[in-house]
Amino acid sequence: MRTLTEHDIRTSFVNCSRGEARRLAVPRDLDSRPWDDLDFLGWRDPGAPDRSYLVTERDGRPVGVTLRFPASRRGFLHRSMCSLCLTTHPGGGVSLMTARKAGAAGREGNSVGLYMCTDLACSLYVRGRKVPESGGRFEESLTLEEQIARTAGNLTAFLDKLFE
Ligand SMILES: [Zn+2]
Repeated sequence: MRTLTEHDIRTSFVNCSRGEARRLAVPRDLDSRPWDDLDFLGWRDPGAPDRSYLVTERDGRPVGVTLRFPASRRGFLHRSMCSLCLTTHPGGGVSLMTARKAGAAGREGNSVGLYMCTDLACSLYVRGRKVPESGGRFEESLTLEEQIARTAGNLTAFLDKLFE
């Protein structure tokens, strides 16, 4: 994806208030992120351990999503495979995250859940730039380009649900 500025990111969020988007923690090292290898930028909030964020592109525009870990039942909700990049993390490195829906549906309290790499580094796992703690990803018959397209497709499907 293209390089985003802090302003791009703060104005991209679709499922939180403007005030929240102004205050949330944006990474300070945006200049050194490997943007060419990212399907989305994802990060944990260092000041709020139950929160993380992702920003991707949809129809050529940045779209940001705030995510929450259902902290009280975290242990109960583990799965071992990320539903975006299909990387397995047997040690519990996949978490259920929930995103409030965009617009009126979100204001009424509706949300969408997603099992996802807890460190939000899906793009790097797919490209082999980061190796999961289990030592590797399962053998894929798909090419790298096909795996990237699949991850992007899974992410698009998730975003579609937020806008339903
Ligand atoms: Zn993942």
